[in-house]
Amino acid sequence: MKRTEAEILRRNFPAETLSFNEPASKHTSFKTGGNIAAVFLPRGAEDIKAAVDIAEDCGFPWYVSGYGSNLLISDAGFGGLLIKIAQNIGNMTVNENKGEIVTGAGQALPRLSRLARDNGLSGLEFACGIPGSVGGAVFMNAGACGGEIKDVVLEARVLQKDGKIEVLRTSALGFGYRRSILSESGGLVLAARFALKKADKDDISRRMEDFSKKREETQPMDKPSAGSAFKRAGDTPAAMLIDKAGLKGLRFGGAAVSEKHAGFIVNDSNASAADIYALMAEVKKRVADRFGVELEPEVRFLGKF
Ligand SMILES: Cc1cc2nc3c(=O)[nH]c(=O)nc-3n(C[C@H](O)[C@H](O)[C@H](O)COP(=O)(O)OP(=O)(O)OC[C@H]3O[C@@H](n4cnc5c(N)ncnc54)[C@H](O)[C@@H]3O)c2cc1C
Repeated sequence: MKRTEAEILRRNFPAETLSFNEPASKHTSFKTGGNIAAVFLPRGAEDIKAAVDIAEDCGFPWYVSGYGSNLLISDAGFGGLLIKIAQNIGNMTVNENKGEIVTGAGQALPRLSRLARDNGLSGLEFACGIPGSVGGAVFMNAGACGGEIKDVVLEARVLQKDGKIEVLRTSALGFGYRRSILSESGGLVLAARFALKKADKDDISRRMEDFSKKREETQPMDKPSAGSAFKRAGDTPAAMLIDKAGLKGLRFGGAAVSEKHAGFIVNDSNASAADIYALMAEVKKRVADRFGVELEPEVRFLGKF
């Protein structure tokens, strides 16, 4: 990003919403990668739209993230503007009678899940341990423990590529396994409305505790990762194929296939983004050689690899 471009950003947005030359490790759960030229924390839809317009007008690249919990940024970094939709856009309102919660896209899923529990609303228990934002979760159709975002989201407020803001019902969001229409349309999630069911708070709490316990028992929570690195192959979990191929513990530089959960690639000891990328490529190759199955990454990549 040129100095003049950074100046334009500074002129348009308050200092506390902008930071420059930020290490990607601060903005991704893999905790690695090069520098991001500029990170912007928008405060609302107008900010997002203005930032996109500025980037488009000036011709520098931009990318939207939530908490970077499914994102690998290359060691060369990202030379554009990262529009990080996070806590600044996290307002939540509960309508207990209707059993609905409306939340800004930057809200963290675990907090949303806890708010639902505290109001005796069931449906978001599965999300209590997914460390992403509501926007990222809608984009990815995040899911766990038999639940998926598509089961509970009623509609999403989306900033479309043409600058219009539309409310898309679930049927228009094109949900599939770990995908939504947004990866094709380029639409950005601003907010989402969830439809939940009234239930006993203690039952909800118990389910959340069970899910969290299971996660701790089966997943390497102590090492930086992006959760499952690959998508399920049809009905077969990628972890099962990776395990059966004997790849647990396989390393490349500081990156490793977790011994605890073969689906997780972890930053074991100061892994570079290139280490993680190369290890994912090796895992993909070995699984293809062994089972003839092409694993597809669940992790999203930003920058040059
Ligand atoms: C320890 C761990 C456990 C995990 N467990 C699970 C799990 O059980 N199930 C699961 O599904 N995932 C899991 N994940 C992965 C991750 O948390 C989810 O994919 C989450 O939905 C990503 O949200 P995010 O805000 O971090 O998105 P990011 O990683 O910031 O972005 C992911 C993608 O979403 C896009 N995006 C982000 N925000 C928006 C927005 N507002 N509008 C449009 N596009 C947007 C980005 O451009 C990017 O392409 C796990 C990750 C970790 C680290």
